[in-house]
Amino acid sequence: MRRAIKLRLYPTKEQAEELDFQFGAARWVFNDALEQRSSLWKERKGSISRSDLIKRLPRLKSAPETAWLKRGDSQAMQQSIMHLDEAFQRFFRKRGRYPRFKSKHGRQAISYPQRVRIVGGSRLYLPKVGDVRAVLHRPVEGEIKTVTVSREPTGKFFASILVEDGREAPVAPEEVSASDAVGIDLGLVHFATLSGNSDGRNVKVPNPRHYRNALAALKRQQRALSRKKKGSSNRAKSRLKVARAHERVTNARNDFQHKLSRLLVDENQAICVETLNVRGMLRNRALARSVADAGWHGFVSKLAYKAQESGRHFVKIDRFNPSTKTCSLCGSINDDLSLADRSWTCGNCGAEHDRDGNAADNIRREGLLKLQAAGLSVSGLWRHA
Ligand SMILES: [Zn+2]
Repeated sequence: MRRAIKLRLYPTKEQAEELDFQFGAARWVFNDALEQRSSLWKERKGSISRSDLIKRLPRLKSAPETAWLKRGDSQAMQQSIMHLDEAFQRFFRKRGRYPRFKSKHGRQAISYPQRVRIVGGSRLYLPKVGDVRAVLHRPVEGEIKTVTVSREPTGKFFASILVEDGREAPVAPEEVSASDAVGIDLGLVHFATLSGNSDGRNVKVPNPRHYRNALAALKRQQRALSRKKKGSSNRAKSRLKVARAHERVTNARNDFQHKLSRLLVDENQAICVETLNVRGMLRNRALARSVADAGWHGFVSKLAYKAQESGRHFVKIDRFNPSTKTCSLCGSINDDLSLADRSWTCGNCGAEHDRDGNAADNIRREGLLKLQAAGLSVSGLWRHA
């Protein structure tokens, strides 16, 4: 099983400077590769492969104007090209937007595919940088696969370590009852609505107060920043305040998502969630902000890996299943339902539905049907007692 471990790094001044150099080299290589791909396409619908881009690197190092790249870590620079390639793959599969140039402002990161190791329990060896002081909350067991080192806009350094622990993932049960399964409808009004519990009630999970407070503080800081004159020292201070407020929002969100996903995985044998059309939603700019804030993607991936390491079924449902419009009791479809309708009555069986609760019930049923189709024994499909 693979698991990700995040730890804080405390580089010395010299190490921080070397890391900054390495961030710069990796960023330059990423941007150069993006430029190559984009201009070839624009000029003559041409393309350049990942391996050809990697082969360009030695030539760049020997050219006088780009000789400074020699000091860059070769594998980390190759990794930049791989990351660009992955971004293009996501774009082609309509899972992401067209790759953009990386800026020297904001978060910086490099990835090492190998050669990173833990030294003496409190240091991380990074190629070209040396042994960097690290805070490890528990020993890292297993084989280190890749390590991503980042500097956040607040100036803090972190390492994300992907470890293969050599253990098999626990096997999920072959029998699932609807009462041990949960369907999750992710939304903007409430962060999540859960499928009905034993008395048929749908629990609604709001975004927590500390998250909303952090978000309100962030908005204040951003307004303050926009009033500061460009290039002034007050603007620089204000920018750091915004970065810190951002960090608090991210931390509050992660904390909340970890707790909620842990609870749902502990209490259920099957976790069903709808894949969201985030890309389509991001086209609408007003919604984009809320979508980014809601951080659904991060939540779904937390659910997925917690389910895997705990031996639970994790089922993603295509969003084209009309989960909102289908009556969860009789299955008839209400084509008249508009986005503004928060509740509705089924024209066929007369059931009263809360929009999101009904969707969550349908998501659970779709998830259970998928498990059944995969050969599992499923009980209580339509209405669980
Ligand atoms: Zn009905």
